[in-house]
Amino acid sequence: MQYVSTRGSAPALDFEGVTLAGLAKDGGLYLPTEWPRFSEAEIAEMAGLSYPELATRVMMPFVGDSLNEEGLRSLCEQAYGRFAHDAVTPLVQLDQRQWLLELFHGPTLAFKDVALQLLGLLFETFLGRSGKRLTIVGATSGDTGSAAIDAVAGREGVEIFMLHPKGRVSEVQRRQMTTVRAPNVHNIAIEGSFDDAQAMVKRMFVDEALTSRMQIGAVNSINWARLMAQVVYYFAAGLQLGAPRRAAAYSVPTGNFGDVFAGYVAHKMGLPIKQLIVATNVNDILHRALTSGDYSAGTVTPTATPSMDIQVSSNFERLLFDCGGRDGAALAEQMRGFEGARSMQLTNAQREGASGLFVSARTDGDEMAQALRWAHERAGQVLDPHTAIGLHAARISDLDPSVPIVTLATAHPAKFSDAVERATGMRPALPARVGDLFSREEHYTELPGDYEAVRDFVSETAATD
Ligand SMILES: *Cc1c(COP(=O)(O)O)cnc(C)c1O
Repeated sequence: MQYVSTRGSAPALDFEGVTLAGLAKDGGLYLPTEWPRFSEAEIAEMAGLSYPELATRVMMPFVGDSLNEEGLRSLCEQAYGRFAHDAVTPLVQLDQRQWLLELFHGPTLAFKDVALQLLGLLFETFLGRSGKRLTIVGATSGDTGSAAIDAVAGREGVEIFMLHPKGRVSEVQRRQMTTVRAPNVHNIAIEGSFDDAQAMVKRMFVDEALTSRMQIGAVNSINWARLMAQVVYYFAAGLQLGAPRRAAAYSVPTGNFGDVFAGYVAHKMGLPIKQLIVATNVNDILHRALTSGDYSAGTVTPTATPSMDIQVSSNFERLLFDCGGRDGAALAEQMRGFEGARSMQLTNAQREGASGLFVSARTDGDEMAQALRWAHERAGQVLDPHTAIGLHAARISDLDPSVPIVTLATAHPAKFSDAVERATGMRPALPARVGDLFSREEHYTELPGDYEAVRDFVSETAATD
């Protein structure tokens, strides 16, 4: 399987290449040259498989010659063996038609574990073969940092530097990063905001003083392997609800459009999907783009759902490429226009390509709290605020009531206990397996909000042989 860039001028790579590369050299994102497709009979045969076995079947066509089937199965067994539920992503029924797909049973209680646990193992496997090293630098406002750190802690060949804005992440989130004890994990608390930290990371990727000494890698959802791993749970839920005979809809709390793009890929591979509901909070650029074609960035409004507080949604570019006729040169031009003006209009082809499958909904803070209360009072389920945005969008859907709707539950409610308590009066407790978080010792380095100081720390600390 070969992968091409959405901007048309970076070299094609195989699966191992795209996993280690992250962003394409031309600034685009990698996608497979064509979508593998399962027949109805092949999908029917997937019913009842264990999660690691299902993951192997669904991902094998993307992996090509980079791993054999035995190798992939072994990585899936290791990655998903770390989840606290045997089903890995259990499906829970809320009422006659509403379902919840719980994606938060991984080590850091967020859905990002599903993909990152596998990605950490893929890094180790591919780097072990070539004897190369990869230095990951990232900035986090919470969930991505802890999931990435847990995924690479102790893995051979890879080292991680994670920047967080000092005093601006929650205590649970900070402790989930700083109590991990491994020689290849470095937490840095910088003076400044998340945007300051993010700007430093972007500079490091193009700083000769660093890139001449080490290969720098990324773990955000521009990495194709993350999206690929997320396709699997759409199949897991669909099969339980009657695929390939019956189609379900999915409501997805959305930020960078990674999770919901994985649903689009599942659909392309033959899984019957009636609709994908793109659920946004008041930071609604995707809702505006999908309803009126207007993709224009404003300023971020902070909300109780910080993982969805985005203005520019990086993976949306993948949809525009695939729906708009896969013309890399034209898309590169369109994206350059957007980067200049912070605004663009979708083409007719892009709008028509997306309109059959995607709908969208924007949910404000009151509606989110209402959905939290409904789930608690009517279905006995305590949700996290991100999941509640998805559930609100699912409940106002005008789909035929015979279609089951699966809301993706993207975080454990205890990660956002203040917001949950405000809405329901209930304070969710951390699960027992992470209960000693508050007694474990923290390790991190504090640095000023000064690029050179951070760059020099990375350069001097990273192992380079
Ligand atoms: C990252 C995240 C999201 C958004 O996922 P995208 O793939 O960026 O759309 C939603 N909810 C939670 C809890 C998250 O951590």
